[in-house]
Amino acid sequence: MRPSRFALHRPESLAEALALKAEFGDTATFHAGGTELLVALKARVLKYDHVIDIKQVEELRGIRLLDEGTLSIGSLSTHHVIANDPLVRQLFPGYADLSEHVANIRVRVAGTLGGVLCFAEPHADAPTMLCALDARIALASATARRNIPSREFHVGEFATAREDDEVLVSIDLPRRLPGDRSAYRAFGHTERPAVGVAAVWSPQGPQRLRLWTGAIVPVPVPMPKAETTAQSLPPDASLEEVWRALEPVIAAEAEEIDAHDDLHGAADYKKHLVGVLARRALEECLK
Ligand SMILES: Cc1cc2nc3c(=O)[nH]c(=O)nc-3n(C[C@H](O)[C@H](O)[C@H](O)COP(=O)(O)OP(=O)(O)OC[C@H]3O[C@@H](n4cnc5c(N)ncnc54)[C@H](O)[C@@H]3O)c2cc1C
Repeated sequence: MRPSRFALHRPESLAEALALKAEFGDTATFHAGGTELLVALKARVLKYDHVIDIKQVEELRGIRLLDEGTLSIGSLSTHHVIANDPLVRQLFPGYADLSEHVANIRVRVAGTLGGVLCFAEPHADAPTMLCALDARIALASATARRNIPSREFHVGEFATAREDDEVLVSIDLPRRLPGDRSAYRAFGHTERPAVGVAAVWSPQGPQRLRLWTGAIVPVPVPMPKAETTAQSLPPDASLEEVWRALEPVIAAEAEEIDAHDDLHGAADYKKHLVGVLARRALEECLK
C-alpha cells in the first residue's frame, strides 16, 4: 500500500524543524531514517499531513566527547555509525558491539538511535544498554530544552516521556570510571530480540553492578536486588564468585517480571533467558 499524501519538509536547522512542528502540531511528524515510520505510513497505521525530514539538521549529527568526559551521541547517528565510531569503540566497547548486531545491515545503515528510542517498539536493544549506562536524553522544543535520564524516558509500548513537539537532540553517556566494563547479550528467533540483558561492572565505582533487562516487557527493567547483592562482592571477584552470589537473586528477580506469552516466546522461557543472558553479559564484563 502507498502512504496517504503528505507534504515533505526538509529543514536545515533545528530551529527550523521545531518551528515547522510548532506550526503544524499533531498533523506533522519527524522523519529520521524512516525504517519504522515509512512502514507505518505505508500500512496506514499512522497518517500525517506533514512529514518533517530532519536528516539535514546538523545539530543532531556527530559523536563528540564533552569537557567533563561525557560522550554525546547526536540522535541522527545510525547504528552503523555508532558501531564503527572510534570514541564509542574506545570508551563503550560493549555498546559498539551491541550496535554492530542490531537487526540487519540495511536497518543499521539507515536506522538512527533517536529513531529507535522515540518509536519505542519494546523489542529493541539500545534502550536496555543505555539505561544500564545511565544515559541522559536531551530534548528540545520550540520553547524549551530539557534533559531526562534514559531510565525515565521509556514509559510503555510505543510511548515515551518525549512530548509530541520535542525533538530528541542527543544521547549523553556519562564518563566511565577506570576499569568499568559493559556488555549486552540478547536472544530472539525473530528479527528483533525476545530478551536482552545489559550489565555494567564497575570495580572502582560506588555501585559495583548495574543490571537491566529489556524487550521482555514494554520498558527496560532494572534488577535492583542483584545490584545490591553485588555491592558486597570484592572488586576483583572472579566470574564464579559473582555468579554463585547472583544466580539465585537474578532467577528470583526474573520470576517477578510480568512477562506474557507472545510470538517471541512463552513467559517462562523468556524469564529463563534473563538468567542465561545475564551470565553471558557478566562473563564478558569479567573476562
Ligand atoms: C526489520 C527490522 C528489524 C529490526 N531489528 C531490530 C533489532 O534487532 N534491535 C533493535 O534495537 N532495533 C531493531 N529494529 C529497530 C531499528 O533500530 C529502528 O527501526 C531504527 O533505529 C529507527 O530509526 P529511524 O531513524 O529509521 O526512525 P524513523 O523510522 O525515522 O522514526 C521512528 C519514529 O521516531 C520518531 N523520531 C525519529 N527520530 C526522532 C528524533 N530525533 N526526535 C523525535 N522523534 C524522532 C519519528 O517521528 C517516528 O515516529 C528493527 C527494525 C526493522 C525495520
